[in-house]
Amino acid sequence: MSLSNRWRRLIDIIPSERCRAMARASFDLCIQRMRYGLPQSCALCATASGDALICSACTSALPRNGGACPNCALPGVAGSVCGACLKRPPPFATCIAAWSYAFPVDRLVQALKYGGQLALAAPMADALVKAIECSGQPCPDLVVALPLFPARQRKRGFNQAQEIARGIAAATGLRFAAGLARVREGPPQVELGWGERTRNMRGAYRGHPVLAGRRVAIVDDVMTTGATLSAAATAARNAGARDVVAWVVARTPRPAEGIAA
Ligand SMILES: [Zn+2]
Ligand SMILES: [Zn+2]
Repeated sequence: MSLSNRWRRLIDIIPSERCRAMARASFDLCIQRMRYGLPQSCALCATASGDALICSACTSALPRNGGACPNCALPGVAGSVCGACLKRPPPFATCIAAWSYAFPVDRLVQALKYGGQLALAAPMADALVKAIECSGQPCPDLVVALPLFPARQRKRGFNQAQEIARGIAAATGLRFAAGLARVREGPPQVELGWGERTRNMRGAYRGHPVLAGRRVAIVDDVMTTGATLSAAATAARNAGARDVVAWVVARTPRPAEGIAA
């Protein structure tokens, strides 16, 4: 049995579920950090990828979020403002998404979020930085991560949005701030219909006074209906943020019917 598997076995016998999750996440991060900078294989195709987690061929083949709405990043609308945003503009001014939430981006996001592969936050942050630079939009004053409810973050051991936001801040020199808090926990959004998601998120976040007068970018991994980011952006505005934009790794295309923004 390899040394790393022996450590994993030891972690498996930690009695507390929360401590087990935290130990797993920390251990995976250590392993990835040891590997980072050393020759390794691509997380998607397993060919040699030098010091990158995803090889250049796989990176360039990842599904881009083309022809997206500038307000909500909904793809496939030829770059014009989509019908939902025309009817009811979201509380964030613009949204940038690096990729479409399709294979294999969905696998990467799930490996980060549920598999605790924290090192994947780095290529996600890199892709978002490229998309942000290409957009030509003005830089915000603060980069803020969409927060998890504290009990959920303790259980998971990390917040994937925070890992990505910190990566963006490190790459760009922008200031990262813990400017939002999740103050109410409803049922997970994935268990709800698209229409119920907005109601579920109402009042879920609170903005910190550090946001007052600032231009703020809120970072999340995936945007589906926009209900979560809208609630967070509203909280940021209520805390006095001057301008709010959304930056997400991946955007889910909107199903054909029964959609709430
Ligand atoms: Zn590859
Ligand atoms: Zn839109």
